[in-house]
Amino acid sequence: MMDTALLTKFLEHPGPTFQIIQTERALGGEAIKCHVCGLTSYNPNDVRHRYCGNCHMDHELVAQLRKLQARVGRPLHLARSD
Ligand SMILES: [Zn+2]
Repeated sequence: MMDTALLTKFLEHPGPTFQIIQTERALGGEAIKCHVCGLTSYNPNDVRHRYCGNCHMDHELVAQLRKLQARVGRPLHLARSD
């Protein structure tokens, strides 16, 4: 179940919600920093899937929803289904 309040926080975050950071090869070569919670993850799966394990949020999904919002021209109405 996605937390709609958290998703809204991501959608309204000013600027990019994440950043890929170059690291030493011993640390995997890349890390992902979440700009919403501040966590930097060196987990290759998190980097590959653009995922924040702390927020449990998919940054790519957020980016897609932001594009959709821009196209619609207004914030998406996120209704709870439960
Ligand atoms: Zn996060």
